[in-house]
Amino acid sequence: MSVGIDRRRFLLRSGGIAAAAHGWRAASVLAQVSPGERPVQDDDAEILFPRDRLPLTFIIDDSTCLVNMGHFCIPQFHACYPDRPVYQKPWQTFPREIPDSFVREFGEWCASRGVKGKYSIVPYPACTGWLDRELPGWSRRDLQNSIQLVRELLMPNWDIHPEMITHTRVIDLKTGRPLQEISPSTMENSWPREKRSVDEIAEYLAYALRILRNCGLPCEGITTPGGFGNMVKSELSLAVQQAVRDVFPVEIPHYFKYVIDGAGSTEPTLEHVSGLASGRPDLTVNIPAGTGDWFGGWEGDVEPRPDLYANEEATSGRLVELLLRGQPGFFLCHWPGMYSNGSKDGFHAFQRVVDSIHAGFHDRVLWMKLSEIARYWATKELTSVRRTDTGVMLESPFACPDLTVRLPAGASGGSLRLIAGEQQEQLQEVRRRQDLNTGTWFRDDDQITACFSCRRGRNELQLTN
Ligand SMILES: [Zn+2]
Repeated sequence: MSVGIDRRRFLLRSGGIAAAAHGWRAASVLAQVSPGERPVQDDDAEILFPRDRLPLTFIIDDSTCLVNMGHFCIPQFHACYPDRPVYQKPWQTFPREIPDSFVREFGEWCASRGVKGKYSIVPYPACTGWLDRELPGWSRRDLQNSIQLVRELLMPNWDIHPEMITHTRVIDLKTGRPLQEISPSTMENSWPREKRSVDEIAEYLAYALRILRNCGLPCEGITTPGGFGNMVKSELSLAVQQAVRDVFPVEIPHYFKYVIDGAGSTEPTLEHVSGLASGRPDLTVNIPAGTGDWFGGWEGDVEPRPDLYANEEATSGRLVELLLRGQPGFFLCHWPGMYSNGSKDGFHAFQRVVDSIHAGFHDRVLWMKLSEIARYWATKELTSVRRTDTGVMLESPFACPDLTVRLPAGASGGSLRLIAGEQQEQLQEVRRRQDLNTGTWFRDDDQITACFSCRRGRNELQLTN
């Protein structure tokens, strides 16, 4: 077993479950989780990706405030799995802290490049302390400054997720203490080991979400630690829907759990959609990653292999392969593997990957955070699409920026008008596809592509001479 292997995969293989948590194919998920309702969508008008670009997102797991999860998780995993070499690493030599100076350096660089994604905040990281109370080893002011940095620097471009409560031991929700027994059934990465009800799972998720609410960190989704929920995939999806909406006023709850490999689609999937006719549907959006972690690993001491995402020229690598296939490029890392125990090797490898992708694909890609992706795909899948004599009528349960629709140009094609409620707007024609932006349209032979800010309810596109 390579030392760089993702803990998710490791735990599951050794736990005797055939599919790795992050290697579970979308098809298998679909087979186990009901997609629910869908509207009628006419074939000859199609909702494309936003601005007809390829979405990119960077999914960061195992991050929190100050606590280096690489250092603090290993002894707790080792206690449960003493024979596994990966948990025998010299964690005592790893720094206990990933400092806020690094969060700032990382966050500012990403903002300068337009990078967006998801950043976990584990609320009771490896049982060290409660982020909404005290973190032993740091002053309360240090903790509050750290939370404020996440709120001000990261939140504009990153969704914040709890990655369950501790990412190590299962907590007794009545006492807030870790369960006494140490076994796979009391580790969050492999919980639960038997069927649990939606309510029981939702209660556990809501507990984690409430701590982040106390910290002033609103969430629209959750990340599962490792194999959390593997035995209750359908219930987990519904529990995400319930727990996120119990704690926050969220229209479109989402979660990250799965990694797609091979030829599978990396597009998000909508689960448990119901109440479409009411105009206010319930749903859960499942957003997968399309890569493994090939930066510094969850431990932080793995040598980065950036070429596995994209080589210097952006001609090979998994991320390049996905983009060339016209698929979303959602890629994954663990926060200790950005800091790399202070060398920042993982971060530097990530910077190289981002620069290569930008140089190779420039205006064909679009960075989005996970809640933006969830909203776009919820709208893409749940908007009814009906051709009219002069264009297309879209009826959407959600407002959505940058909605991008392709339809036949027909014989006309002088101008394109958007009618939404009382509002009428003349969309502006652009000459190049890459100039597509909200309020514009582009003509290509016998088709046109329009991009506009979709309102909840009816949006009609009318072609006029
Ligand atoms: Zn994790």
